[in-house]
Amino acid sequence: MAAMFIRVDIADSVQDDPAVCQQLVEVCPVDIFELDDGGRVRTVEDNLDECTLCDLCIDATQPGQIDVVKLYRE
Ligand code: SF4
Repeated sequence: MAAMFIRVDIADSVQDDPAVCQQLVEVCPVDIFELDDGGRVRTVEDNLDECTLCDLCIDATQPGQIDVVKLYRE
């Protein structure tokens, strides 16, 4: 059976808005987003497999800024 895992793509335009970066950190229920030392948002690789596909990150941003990509492996 194929297991699903995800990749989260963050558009560069997200990094231009510190409030949106912070919002992503706050909305994700499984801590997939964090801020780096420069205030840029990035994903926490170890938490990606916890994604619930809740779309809260997508709802918190403009269309196309966050893409939750479903991937599969054997
Ligand atoms: S879909 Fe939900 S759980 Fe997955 S990264 Fe976005 S906010 Fe986090």
